[in-house]
Amino acid sequence: MIVAMQEKATEEQIDAVIDAMVDAGVNVHRTTGAYQTILAGVGPTANVELRKFELLPGVLYVHRITAPYKLAGRAFRPEGTEVEFANGVRVGGDRTHVMAGPCSIETRDQMFETAARVKAAGGAFLRGGAFKPRSSPYAFQGLGIPGLELMREAADAHGLLTVSEVMEIAQIEPMLPFVDCFQVGARNMQNFNLLRELGQVRKPILLKRGIAATIEELLLSSEYILSGGNYDIILCERGIRTYETSTRNTMDISAIPVLKKLSHLPVVADPSYGTGRRDMVAPMAKAALAAGADAILIEVHPNADKAASDAAQTLYLDQFEKLMGELRVIATAVGRSL
Ligand code: PEP
Ligand code: MN
Repeated sequence: MIVAMQEKATEEQIDAVIDAMVDAGVNVHRTTGAYQTILAGVGPTANVELRKFELLPGVLYVHRITAPYKLAGRAFRPEGTEVEFANGVRVGGDRTHVMAGPCSIETRDQMFETAARVKAAGGAFLRGGAFKPRSSPYAFQGLGIPGLELMREAADAHGLLTVSEVMEIAQIEPMLPFVDCFQVGARNMQNFNLLRELGQVRKPILLKRGIAATIEELLLSSEYILSGGNYDIILCERGIRTYETSTRNTMDISAIPVLKKLSHLPVVADPSYGTGRRDMVAPMAKAALAAGADAILIEVHPNADKAASDAAQTLYLDQFEKLMGELRVIATAVGRSL
């Protein structure tokens, strides 16, 4: 940690800060320049509450140097993590992957047609929500386990992996036979009890960034899962809430290279939630792949306009097929395959 003292800080104030740092178990290195004193603290600072130091008299600002997460940090696995699935698909390697499917699982025909087209276009995962976190309690809440049965059947028929959202601990066990990857939604990114429980699961987790979460908070949430012993996590950038109203969320493309730098975990980008608009999904999907995303998560539906949820951001299957061709070009341009 770095503590910068105010220009007018007195020797007594500086000594008091040094004492507080030593009390926190930190080794202090003092540098006094022409105007200002800087105190560099080396030691176990991960759990030190910085605000406490900001409030001490004479302190200008306090800066953390060591990340508060350990297992999620790039240093833990400098070579990067590849999350491997049962059929050998690896997310985080040279090959990029596409996960596509409807927002909500609705019918057998919907899932089978979607699965066939996603597979034929080169997708590796079928997505679909069975437990839906809807803003309104009156909106379609998902089909639950019968929906997951449909998704599993359709995915197996076409050699796809499945990804679906888990909203609470009690759903983990019943979902296990049907999902290859548990999705934790934006609203649950800080449901720490759920995250801890998923740390005990031996299946990959797709962890979405909360709508108002910082990148550090996303990584700390992943740390909950990692510290339970589950290292198979894919981080998801899905747009954050800003003051901009042209799109449903603001797709934070820069979060992708930031996450890749700070963490070893693979990153998936979700341009459907990132924009909330069908016409903006393709440009943002391409930008995300160019920016280093390891996978793209997209909502598609055979009858997109009639989707039971998120119709406005859902691609028609022919739009999806066209996008896959474009993504392939982008992947090649950045030295990867799709
Ligand atoms: C979803 O992918 O179905 C979903 C609800 O996403 P998010 O949690 O990002 O809103
Ligand atoms: Mn949706």
